[in-house]
Amino acid sequence: MRKNQFKGFKSPLIDNPAIDLLESPKPLKKVKQEDSSCKIGAFVSPLIDKSLSNCESPKIVRKAILDIELSTTPKSRAFVSPLVDKTLGKRSVRKTKANAENIVPRPLKFSILDHEAVIAELLSKAFKVPIADYIPEYSNKTLGIRKILVRRPLHDPTLCNALVLYTPIFKDTDNYDDTNKPVHVVVDPILCNVLRPHQREGVKFMYDCVIGAKGDWNGCIMADEMGLGKTLQCITLVWTLLRQSPDCKPEIIKAIIVCPSSLVKNWYNEFGKWLGSRVTCLAIANESKDKTIELLNTYMANQSARCGAPVLIISYETFRLYAEILTASEIGLVLCDEGHRLKNNENLTYQALMGLKTKRRVLLSGTPIQNDLLEYYSLVNFVNPGILGNNSEFKRHYENPILKGQDACSSDKEREKANERLQELSALVNQFLIRRTSSLLTKYLPVKFEMVVCVKMTQCQVDIYKNFLKSDLIRKSLSSTNGEKGSARALSNITSLKKLCSHPELVIEKINEGADGFENAQQYLPPNYSSRDLMPQYGGKVLLLDVMLAAIKANSDDKIVLVSNYTQTLDLFEKLCRKRGYQYCRLDGSMTIKKRGKMVEDFNKPDSSLFIFMLSSKAGGCGLNLIGANRLIMFDPDWNPANDEQAMARVWRDGQKKPCFIYRFVATGTIEEKIFQRQTHKKALSNTVVDNDEGERHFSMNELKELFKLEENTKSDTHDIFKCKRCVNDVQVKLPPEGSDCTSDLSQWYHCSNNKQIPDEIISRAWDITQTVSFIFHHRSQVVAQEVPDEKKPKEKKKKIIYEDDDFVDLDEECDDSDDEDYK
Ligand SMILES: [Zn+2]
Repeated sequence: MRKNQFKGFKSPLIDNPAIDLLESPKPLKKVKQEDSSCKIGAFVSPLIDKSLSNCESPKIVRKAILDIELSTTPKSRAFVSPLVDKTLGKRSVRKTKANAENIVPRPLKFSILDHEAVIAELLSKAFKVPIADYIPEYSNKTLGIRKILVRRPLHDPTLCNALVLYTPIFKDTDNYDDTNKPVHVVVDPILCNVLRPHQREGVKFMYDCVIGAKGDWNGCIMADEMGLGKTLQCITLVWTLLRQSPDCKPEIIKAIIVCPSSLVKNWYNEFGKWLGSRVTCLAIANESKDKTIELLNTYMANQSARCGAPVLIISYETFRLYAEILTASEIGLVLCDEGHRLKNNENLTYQALMGLKTKRRVLLSGTPIQNDLLEYYSLVNFVNPGILGNNSEFKRHYENPILKGQDACSSDKEREKANERLQELSALVNQFLIRRTSSLLTKYLPVKFEMVVCVKMTQCQVDIYKNFLKSDLIRKSLSSTNGEKGSARALSNITSLKKLCSHPELVIEKINEGADGFENAQQYLPPNYSSRDLMPQYGGKVLLLDVMLAAIKANSDDKIVLVSNYTQTLDLFEKLCRKRGYQYCRLDGSMTIKKRGKMVEDFNKPDSSLFIFMLSSKAGGCGLNLIGANRLIMFDPDWNPANDEQAMARVWRDGQKKPCFIYRFVATGTIEEKIFQRQTHKKALSNTVVDNDEGERHFSMNELKELFKLEENTKSDTHDIFKCKRCVNDVQVKLPPEGSDCTSDLSQWYHCSNNKQIPDEIISRAWDITQTVSFIFHHRSQVVAQEVPDEKKPKEKKKKIIYEDDDFVDLDEECDDSDDEDYK
């Protein structure tokens, strides 16, 4: 069949039982009465030569078509119209003749006019099903035709680009007949055609897990990094299960999506975005108690695939409150978004969810699985209860030997055993855990440059900082042993220092009051210091920011996302914007989801006059898509790397067309660098951390002492710690290893202690102008497309070395003093 000629017309009949008639050799009854030799196959396409040739008269074919038109749904009639009516008659006559006279059939010939007319008609009229909003694909009901018992897949597995999740295998020994023959499970083309290769793989993986194709379990963990489209993959899974199974009926009747309350609406919208009105979702958010109970009861009472909403979207909190209703009867599938919330198997939400009557459990987590074994156990045990044994079995078999082996004074034998158990554990879990990193996105996205910018504090910041560290407050807190309380105080001290790192203005009240730790600090403020007007020049990072913003504004039409941990810092940004006349918007945690959506939409518009989008890293960037901007500044580091990553993933994501620049500011040698180190360490430790906020709570006394120390004479404390061999006297003489990128460890990034060779003109200029930067680590997401021809490569390399040698000489003297100082 010349399929390609009918591209675009395929859909209406694909799932119509009537098409079976075409594929099976059975003739249609009515036609048979008139002419048994005329197969209804002729109807398929006027272009099929052979089947038509059997027809003796075009009239009969026309009659057959008419019969089908009358007896099937309107959609088949719609299909017939564009070509058949006009051409069928003529050509079948020709065919019949050709057969009769036994001449080789001539190739099809339209007159040019005919053809043009057909094309013109096609183009002028969108192909429409006669009934408004009628969705033909998903109904097996037809008008006036007897139900045909032949079992067939819902979508054509042979279609180009079809994603087949299940393929039946038939053996001679099987006793299948038309009533129990398994069928293909094929992802709905409407989704399949938007899935990217890694997403197809993810859907297949999850499907195999939940239907139990891989073992005696039905749960899985989807831990793809942010930006890879976890939501779409899950929607595809849910939609497929709701519609199909090898048994030719839905695999499940109902699915529950449990997520943080801020994402309920998001899930609802995503279902709408991809599936339109095909699926009804019940999203429960902020309903009254009575209403919620009523809705949930109705949802649970519904046991039919045909009515009601099959998908319930509900927050963890609401789920816990109404668990009694939701665990009353069976559910096909439960899907837990931000699933690392379930790392503690003793909390109430965990236990409520465990009570669900479902074996198919999917856990989503963009941040990877915790390296804490017990938490690991909780997550795994949630999706596949019992697979790791009970709590004490797990401890005995895995946790104890593994921990023993990691102990510094363990024996070789213990270490070997630990390794063995660890491998056993990961082999087991990897069967149902899938995780891909966002480096996959490099195929689709423009290059991203990530920079860690060490920014020097100004003199007054340094003085106040040192004064604070010397204060009684700190001395007391470092000598006190009163546990909890001491920790809480440490936290507030950390906050004060972090704020000071940004700008003295953020702690100006304390300075003016002479509050604890800030006694006598006023003397260090410059004489002309005033709070009435923002003075960027007295805060290193703010100064750099100010210059960068101006440079960006003047040299490009780029837009910027500004992220900070503190609302107070955001206030300061606002002050700066007002001072410079920049248009901005600001997203707060308190903002309603609807308002957020509107704001994001406004910002992303290409013609929007908004220049800056301010975001609190705590307000949760989850789901925000800020691709209108291609530069993002993380103004201060958070304890939790996941928070920072969430925020940074806002601009370098699907739909981004420009190269992206991500700047992470840390104040050189200060507590910020230490937080940052801890963050990267935490990430590197297992490359697996999911944790929230915990990092803040527990410090040993030594750690605290380390935190409250200012490394004054350094360009970057972080770089010092590496004892980097690639840099000699502050000049990088050896490039980062080939194949490294911005997901690599910082020690494998580019190291710059001057503003040369930075791939971003903006920060390079700002460095030059402000002299506030002391060091930059930078790397990119991928190799930039311009490949240097092979024979030119060695030359280039040589040139580079010479260049670096020049630097080497330049900087030698200048940097010597930093080496003299011993600051260990
Ligand atoms: Zn280095």
